[in-house]
Amino acid sequence: MLSRLIPLEVSELITDLERAGHRAYLVGGCVRDYLMGLKPQDYDITSSATPKQVMSIFAHLKVLPTGIRHGTVTVINRGVSVEITALRKEGTYKDHRHPDKVIYTNSAAEDAARRDFTVNAMYYSPSEGMLDFYGGQADLAAGILRAVGDPELRFEEDALRILRALRFAARLGFTVEKNTVAAMRAKVHLLQHIAAERVLSELGQILMGDYAEAVLAEHSYVTECLFGAKAPDDLGKYPKEYRLPLFIAHCGRNAEGAETLCRSLKTDRRLARSVSAAAFALYGYGFDCWLEVAVYAGKHGIKDARMTCILLERRGGRLPANWESGLALMECGKLPLTLRELAVDGADLKALGAVNGKQMGTLLEKLFAYVHTGGINEKTSLCAEALRIISSEGC
Ligand code: ATP
Ligand code: MG
Repeated sequence: MLSRLIPLEVSELITDLERAGHRAYLVGGCVRDYLMGLKPQDYDITSSATPKQVMSIFAHLKVLPTGIRHGTVTVINRGVSVEITALRKEGTYKDHRHPDKVIYTNSAAEDAARRDFTVNAMYYSPSEGMLDFYGGQADLAAGILRAVGDPELRFEEDALRILRALRFAARLGFTVEKNTVAAMRAKVHLLQHIAAERVLSELGQILMGDYAEAVLAEHSYVTECLFGAKAPDDLGKYPKEYRLPLFIAHCGRNAEGAETLCRSLKTDRRLARSVSAAAFALYGYGFDCWLEVAVYAGKHGIKDARMTCILLERRGGRLPANWESGLALMECGKLPLTLRELAVDGADLKALGAVNGKQMGTLLEKLFAYVHTGGINEKTSLCAEALRIISSEGC
C-alpha cells in the first residue's frame, strides 16, 4: 500500500537502481512517517550501489556529491532531491561521534544494525515490501523508541543519539524504552564530546516538539549534564519559537550567563539577541510605562519585544496594561518604531533652531516620547512640540 504514496520522482529512482542490478529501498524517517500516516519531510534511499555507480546510473540527472565520504550523493529528479546512500556497515567509533571507517555492503540487515532506533531502521521498496529487522513496526504501533542493538554500546559509539532520542520522543510523543533510558543515563556524560553546533541543532528540534516539556522533564538528566539546569517547567505554555531563547536564557541563570551560554553554543547573532530579550524578562527587569516598551521595541524589534512582554506577563513581571495594543500599533505603522519613522527630519529641526547633532538626537527622542504618549505623528504637530521643547527646555 505504501507504493501508491511514494512520489513518482522518488520511486523512479528506486526502479532505475534495480534495473541496473542493485537493491534500493526507502529508509529511515520517510518510512516511519508513512507508517504513521504523516507526509515525509524528505526521502532517503539506501542502495547497494556505491556513490560512483549512483553517479553513473543517474548521469542524465543532476547529482550532487553531498556526503561522498559517508557514501551519500543527492540526486535531483524533476525538482525533487533525494539522498541516495550506499548500504553500509560501520567499523569502530572514534571520539564518541564518528565511525573510523565505512564499509559498503549488499545487506540491508547489516545496514540496519548501525541505525539508531528501531522505528528508524525500516526499509521499504515496492518490489521487496517492508524489511523490518528490529521490530520497528511493533514499536511504532506501541509508541516506543528503542535503540537498535545494545543501547549502551550504541550511545557510547555516538552520544548524539541521546539527543536524537529526545528529539523523536518530543516530536512523536513516544516513550523511550526502559533499557534505552538506562543506557542514556549511563552514557549522558559523553555528550561533552559532541560539537556545540550539533547540540544546538538538536536542542532546537527537541524544543519544537509537541511533547517537549514532558520529555525534557522526564529526561532532565540530559540538560542537567549539558547545562547544569533543568528545562523551565512552563515551556509548553509559550509559542514554539520562544522556547529556544527562553531555554538558553533560563539555563544561563542570569543575563551575563545567558550571553556566555550563547557564545559556547555558537548561536547566530539573531538568536543571541532573542536570548538577551528573554533574559531581560527572566532576571528582574521590566517596564514601568508604555514608553519604555516602545523604546525597547525600537531597539530589539517588535518580535523580540512581544516575546519579552509575554514572558513578563506570564511570570508576573512589571508591564503596562496597554503593551499588546501598543505593539500592534507599532507593527502596523500607526506608531513609529524608530526615530526615522517620525514625520520630521534633521532639516526640519535645524530650521527650528536645533544647532548640533546631539541636540537633534535629544529632540528626536523627546518627539518619539511625545508621539508615544498621545501626540500626533504629523509634521505640524511635531514642529509645534519641537518649538515648545526648544523654548522651554533649551534643546
Ligand atoms: P527527520 O524526520 O527529523 O529527518 P530522520 O529519521 O529522517 O528524521 P535523519 O537525521 O534525517 O532522521 O537521519 C536519517 C536516518 O539515518 C535515520 O532515520 C536513522 O536511520 C539514520 N541516522 C541518522 N543519524 C544517525 C545516528 N547518529 N546514528 C545512527 N543512525 C542515524
Ligand atoms: Mg530525515
